[in-house]
Amino acid sequence: MIRKRILVKGAVQGVGFRPFIYNLAASHALGGFVLNEPEGVRIEVEGNESSVEAFVDEIGSSAPPMARVTDIQCEAIALAGERTFAIRHSGGAGTRIVLIPPDLATCEDCLRELSDPRDRRYQYPFINCTNCGPRYTIIKAMPYDRAQTTMASFEMCPDCRAEYEDPTNRRFHAEPTCCPACGPKMSLMDPSGSDLASDDPIGEAKRRFARGEVLAIKGLGGFHLACDAGNESAVQRLRSRKHRDVKPFALMVRDVDAARNLVHGAAGNDAVDMALLASPQRPIVLMPKLSGHGLAEGVAPRSAEFGIMLPYTPLHHMLMDGQFDALVMTSGNFTDEPIAHTNEEALAQLGPMVDAILAHDRDIHIRTDDSVMRVTAGGPQFLRRSRGYAPFPIDIPVDTTGKEILAVGPELNNTVCLTRADGAFLSHHLGDLNNLAAYEGFLQAIDHMESVLDVTPKAIACDLHPGYLSTRYSRERGLPLVKVQHHHAHVASVMVEAGLTERVIGVSYDGMGWGEDDSPWGGEFMVADLGEFQRMAHLEPVAQPGGDAAAKRPPRMAYAYLHAALGEEAATISAKLMPEFAETEMPTIEQVIARGVNCPLTSSMGRLFDAASAVLGVCSYNSFHAQAPMELQAAAEQASAEQGTYEVAIRQAQSGASIVRTSQLIEQLALDFMSGTAVEVCAARFHNSVVELTLDICRQIRENMGLKTVALSGGVFANAFLTDRLVLSLERADFRTLLNREAPPGDGGISLGQAAAAAWRQSCV
Ligand code: ZN
Ligand code: ZN
Ligand code: FE
Repeated sequence: MIRKRILVKGAVQGVGFRPFIYNLAASHALGGFVLNEPEGVRIEVEGNESSVEAFVDEIGSSAPPMARVTDIQCEAIALAGERTFAIRHSGGAGTRIVLIPPDLATCEDCLRELSDPRDRRYQYPFINCTNCGPRYTIIKAMPYDRAQTTMASFEMCPDCRAEYEDPTNRRFHAEPTCCPACGPKMSLMDPSGSDLASDDPIGEAKRRFARGEVLAIKGLGGFHLACDAGNESAVQRLRSRKHRDVKPFALMVRDVDAARNLVHGAAGNDAVDMALLASPQRPIVLMPKLSGHGLAEGVAPRSAEFGIMLPYTPLHHMLMDGQFDALVMTSGNFTDEPIAHTNEEALAQLGPMVDAILAHDRDIHIRTDDSVMRVTAGGPQFLRRSRGYAPFPIDIPVDTTGKEILAVGPELNNTVCLTRADGAFLSHHLGDLNNLAAYEGFLQAIDHMESVLDVTPKAIACDLHPGYLSTRYSRERGLPLVKVQHHHAHVASVMVEAGLTERVIGVSYDGMGWGEDDSPWGGEFMVADLGEFQRMAHLEPVAQPGGDAAAKRPPRMAYAYLHAALGEEAATISAKLMPEFAETEMPTIEQVIARGVNCPLTSSMGRLFDAASAVLGVCSYNSFHAQAPMELQAAAEQASAEQGTYEVAIRQAQSGASIVRTSQLIEQLALDFMSGTAVEVCAARFHNSVVELTLDICRQIRENMGLKTVALSGGVFANAFLTDRLVLSLERADFRTLLNREAPPGDGGISLGQAAAAAWRQSCV
């Protein structure tokens, strides 16, 4: 006989871990107890040696699906003579949940009950258990128990209570558990909020979809706007009501087989994509469209991809169980507003856009958007990290206890990040802070995270940009400020994911980040450790006429590059390639550049892609973020096989930094296109040239500094065509490459990089 004391760390509370341990101990006939403690789950077991060993092995290997075990510590202790096993109650205040569980998709067991006519939760759209259902979105305060969630107003019936208190039951301490007798109810309203008093709201919603209606539907983290994706006129009606011209709509389909009728996986092998699609986090996954998909053209009119997700609530499963191949499920908002998450918001904001609203009376406390991912260079990449993942922490190589950091992120695509011990808790997607409602969400998220994590930050990490609302917030907060340059934050985000602190080559390509010289940067090569960086090379600074406004108008950048390369002659070429621009805006832009007023010099890779897109006539207006680069990528993907590159010179600046002559690149692109080369071929050559110039600079830095690890980050790396080729080229040239896998490479990952850089600087003092 032996007795062991075991501490299990990770996301092990609120995920059905104690009943799992209880049943595991019973199956090995062990005595002892299990208990939630602040650091994790504490277990003591007693029995014969081989049973105890087997028990310990199985803790890691067969833990419940929502649990993430990060560490198991064991020590032998004296026997206590216990024959039975108990779940002990961890009393009151000292026991906080270690990690807040994210929301997860309905599990297989619950789905089986949902479709079993003999089950008391048959066709009940709020079915859940300890392995699935809402968490983060309904938690108001910690510790996590029902009274602190939006389920508090629903009193459990005796049947639910009995399951909740039974340690062998799957619903033991499942805080949101409920049933038709005691839980929330669906309702169907007309756009003015009058109850349509349907006794079958879900069935009625399906009949309305079949008639081509547009409905608002309450999900886990907010409302969606939905319609039948096979109905062109319904899709067009949704587009015009939402004022969204071409930006693709997300789709929901029944299962993986239904997805396979619409898309194929990256690089011909769809195993990784489909696994991501079917994972319990249920992100939207972007995948290449199949021809003959049969859906309305208006779903994703100018995109080569569909964004697809599988049902993740019982309600979704019930809606998808019927006549539709796919439903459009786009976020329930008006253009740039945050997604509506209360019934009142839905009525006020979405009422005018829909024919009916399918809602319910379980409140959403924290609004979270769907996460968006794609497979890039063989692994998952986040475009937006939110529902299903937030607020799960990312490890940082510093214990910040007593020196906790709040990182407030950038202006657009904002997230915030709070550290506790050696975890960086990245918030859900908060959107563009220049939108008032999004800024309010930002303030609420900071409050909420400080409260549920029980952390008061001791310092704030922010961007260098003086005008960002997040930077202003951090100045007003009155705590010590740690400023982290935008592109260093991008690079630091990749480094920290990989657990690196020592110097690497950092390559950061994005639209814009404030530089140390107060100019807009965005095509940056650095030597960086986790805390500091040195700018080694960058793209040629080129006029950005009208400042931020130029980000909407790619032809302005095309003209600016051509002007930098060719001077006066730029006007002639622009007139040929961009006649509409030449007739309208060009005279003004010439003046703006000549006078240099409101015309900063930018080294942005995003603007370079804009320029290339405009030169080739692919896209002349960014109606949504990165539209022109995305359409350029789609053109390049149409080109067959290898296409060659353009020569790009590199010169030394007085500062010692190398400068990539990107104006020459745009000049060659324009001349090639005017000589009759196909758009697709030109677009591919442009991408190849960016790969080559990146490789050249990395080689140069390796020769000088002896570094061979390259960290790639920034929104441009969401371009899978570019990223796949670049990673391949770098690895062929014997570099080790790092990409973001846990946080987005775009600005949604900035707060993680800020937090990591700030924590590392503190630890080095
Ligand atoms: Zn379940
Ligand atoms: Zn009940
Ligand atoms: Fe950025």
